[in-house]
Amino acid sequence: MDNNNSMMERLDEFLTEVQKPSRYIGGETGSVIKDKSKVDIRFAFCFPDTYEIGMSHLGMKILYGLKNAVPNYWCERVFMPLPDMEEQMRARNIPLYALESLDPIKDFDFIGFTLQYEMSYTNILEMLDLAGVPVLASERGETLAPIVMAGGPCVCNPEPLVDFFDLFAIGEGEEMNLELMRLMEQCKKEGTTRQEFLRRAAQIEGIYVPSLYDVDYNEDGTVKSITPRDGAPAKIRKRIIKDFDKVYAPDNFVVPFTQIVHDRAVVEVLRGCIRGCRFCQAGFIYRPYREKEKDTILAQTKALCENTGYDEVSLSSLSTGDYKDIVGLLTELTDYTTGEKINLSLPSLRIDRFSDEVLKKITDVRKSGLTFAPEGGTQRIRDVINKNVTEKNVMDSVKIAFEGGYTNIKLYFMMGLPTETMEDVEGVYQLAKAVIEEFYATPNHAKGRPGVAVSLSTFIPKPFTPFEFEPQLDEAGVKERQAHLKSINNDRKIVISWSKYDLSLIEAVLARGDRRMSKVVYAAWKKGCKLDGWDEHFKFDKWKEAFEECGLDMAFYANRRRSYEEVAPWSHIDMLVSREFLIEENRRAHAGVTTPNCREKCSNCGVAKCVGGDICRAIR
Ligand code: SF4
Ligand code: SF4
Repeated sequence: MDNNNSMMERLDEFLTEVQKPSRYIGGETGSVIKDKSKVDIRFAFCFPDTYEIGMSHLGMKILYGLKNAVPNYWCERVFMPLPDMEEQMRARNIPLYALESLDPIKDFDFIGFTLQYEMSYTNILEMLDLAGVPVLASERGETLAPIVMAGGPCVCNPEPLVDFFDLFAIGEGEEMNLELMRLMEQCKKEGTTRQEFLRRAAQIEGIYVPSLYDVDYNEDGTVKSITPRDGAPAKIRKRIIKDFDKVYAPDNFVVPFTQIVHDRAVVEVLRGCIRGCRFCQAGFIYRPYREKEKDTILAQTKALCENTGYDEVSLSSLSTGDYKDIVGLLTELTDYTTGEKINLSLPSLRIDRFSDEVLKKITDVRKSGLTFAPEGGTQRIRDVINKNVTEKNVMDSVKIAFEGGYTNIKLYFMMGLPTETMEDVEGVYQLAKAVIEEFYATPNHAKGRPGVAVSLSTFIPKPFTPFEFEPQLDEAGVKERQAHLKSINNDRKIVISWSKYDLSLIEAVLARGDRRMSKVVYAAWKKGCKLDGWDEHFKFDKWKEAFEECGLDMAFYANRRRSYEEVAPWSHIDMLVSREFLIEENRRAHAGVTTPNCREKCSNCGVAKCVGGDICRAIR
């Protein structure tokens, strides 16, 4: 622990000068400390955003617990320091360190990032640089460690980041991470080089080593071919956990000293989603849908609440209301939580599953506001995006909410959806108005003025969705729609807000970029871009300059329709959903035809063929 003490002394010299110092010192209840002399493999789990955001992330808690359950492996946490802390660290030559041991992460075997959203990409470069690790993978030499890797949803198109990573883990990480750590253990014993480790890692299902692939381009700038070398597979198939009920789940969390975004126990109830909303990447890349047994969920809830002492537990998934026996599950859970005076919250509810019965089970959630995401303003556009929600569903749900004492509703929509017309845009306002009218039409509504907050984000086409071929609406189109909505809103009970266009443009470009984009990300970071997800730190002009210097055009990546025949930059990544299915779904969207969910009927998306039919049959 010597190093820990000396680092603590160095930190002590200035920590009172930075905001919320507790996020930089570790030592929280539940954090794992090991005897270094008994540890063979060290893993720095890096969340490329602040402590408050990263500590709320369930995936990190799962992989942290899973790796630390192996006696000779030690996984520690690392977050992006905020500018005040970073400035102090750079001024004092303190390299980025892990929170458990306070050791510099450059001495670890793995530096693993989770890629949750595109706007965190420049943070990765900043963190590597602060750690004293070469930002470019090609400059890391022959030495085996550290291996810089990434997992998480954005790695379904890892190409914009290939210059910075040694490998990517595609799909669910529980098994893959341990396999990589075992390989590292073996390679350390044999004294192999980094290149040999990477060559062997590429043979593990789900592992993508980008340096083993060559990419050629057509004259028009589109990808011509992607060719593997050194025995690397032509397609990298994502990993999934087949027996989801038995998958590792942590029975303890690190409980922070400082307030974080979601400070509560979280239990994962299901993975994947039975729906196929055509804009939603998560709905496709996490297929197939799998549930945990009720008893498993109850046991995990009890263990977590008891070990952490939290008085709030949340059920986590893409769409918790789709759990087959949701009422039965909530009945059993509330029997336990009510007895223990624990609040139960259920964040991901779909409107059409928002039944009276479900609401009664979660009466403990705050009464002030509720959130719904109809996404589109008219039935026509909701059919295009396959959001199988009707206006009646919305009204039935808000009525239940108003009867339950709620007064404020937040509605999420997207702007610039494929085939969208001004009528669809006006539909957003009409729906908000109808919600207000419903409030007054509800007998026994709460006292006070109702309010509807409409939040509009710009649609961003994402890989592995039926809309991956679609252009993003350009700035003029977005402005025109915003101005129109502003001009028709004469009701002060309806407040309309929208996301910043420039930010969604960069997100769109990064989401569907090819590997030439790595140069742009590097140039933008060199110009000072970091914490791009935060309005106050986002520097669009610097991104624009970076594109110009690299000779790449944002509109080529964001605003161009892509043909069904075009080779996608991510075409060597296999997320199990077939391209033929995505094309068919794109055609159905343009025809305004909806597709049933996996519980109603299998639409042969290709997943069952890859994982065997049993998992998909169990959905129905
Ligand atoms: S319900 Fe739709 S938007 Fe929600 S996770 Fe499923 S596919 Fe995505
Ligand atoms: S194969 Fe069928 S049931 Fe399975 S995920 Fe695809 S559409 Fe759903």
